Formats: sequence, structure tokens, C-alpha cells
Amino acid sequence: MNNSPSQRRRYVLLDRDGTLIVHRPYLGRVDQVELVPGVVEGLQNLSQLGFGLAVLTNQSGIGRGYFTAEDVDRIHAKIREELAAAGVVIDGFYCCPHVPEDHCTCRKPEPGLALQAAGELGFELAESFLIGDNDCDIHLGARIRATTFLVKNASSVALPESAVLDPDYVVGDLGEAARVIADRVSAEGI
Ligand SMILES: [Mg+2]
Ligand SMILES: [Zn+2]
Repeated sequence: MNNSPSQRRRYVLLDRDGTLIVHRPYLGRVDQVELVPGVVEGLQNLSQLGFGLAVLTNQSGIGRGYFTAEDVDRIHAKIREELAAAGVVIDGFYCCPHVPEDHCTCRKPEPGLALQAAGELGFELAESFLIGDNDCDIHLGARIRATTFLVKNASSVALPESAVLDPDYVVGDLGEAARVIADRVSAEGI
């Protein structure tokens, strides 16, 4: 990646529920964690290409009192453990614990989580790729000028027909997103 304009490691920003793991509303227990098919191969592919990986997730269940921040930490440790067994390292998990009524600056599509990740991990948001299954992911990606992928499959959230979205790519799973990214990177000669 030495020809990258910023000379910095590029990142893929990943939504959690419906993208990395099967979407279950207000998932609060480790035993509910189930990786979506295609995720392991996709992340292995991205890792081999040299990408950093960061997870950005809205968890309003914390703000609503359905589960605690510690429960979420345990779930993230479980995801880390399962992916580490496949040789994949997640560089950071970033979580918004708020409810919409808090009007925080980190609940996607607000850019707070992405800004925090970019600041701590040291990458250019506009050179990143963002993969998610919900409208807030695609809207966040547009705000930070990332290249966006909307994942649509049986594990993702059901978007209303009225959702107005303009992702750069629509893919069946994370494995397909990784293949598109690999093709783009090789076309750019990076
Ligand atoms: Mg999601
Ligand atoms: Zn927040």
C-alpha cells in the first residue's frame, strides 16, 4: 500500500449486527453471537490485503437498560476470539450506548464513532470502505466520504421499501464486499 496517497494503512469500517453477526434485536448475550456466512473469508481476504478493521456499532439497548456496556464488551470479546481463531484481528470496536433521544454525536449516522476510530487508529476516513446493512451505515459512509457497501441477505435487517439509499455497491455478504475491494485495490495499483 505504499502508493496510497496518505501513505497510511487503509481501513474497512464494519457494522456489527446484520453485517458481522446475525441480526437479533437487542442482542445482549454471548450465546446469541453467530457470525454471518462469508464473514470469515471476507475478513481474511481484507487482512491479507493489509487493511485495518474497525467495528462501529449502535447499541441503544445499553441506554434503554436492556443490557450493560459490560455485556457488550463480552460480546465483542467473543467476536474477537472467534475471528482470531481464523487469523483475523479486529483493530477496534467502537460502540454508541445512547438512545436517539440523547441526540449524541456518536450514534450512526452521526460521525462520532468513525472520527474516534480514525483518530485512535490513524487512518483517512475518505480512503476507507464502510460495510453495513442499515440506512444509518450508508448515510454515515456518505458523510465521511467512504466507499459504501450495503449488505443484503437473510442475516441483515429488513429495510423499509421507502428507505432512500445510494450505496456505492450492494452485496450479498461481506465476502462479496471483500472481493470488490480487492478488485478496486488492484485496479488502483496499490
Ligand atoms: Mg446492522
Ligand atoms: Zn452515542
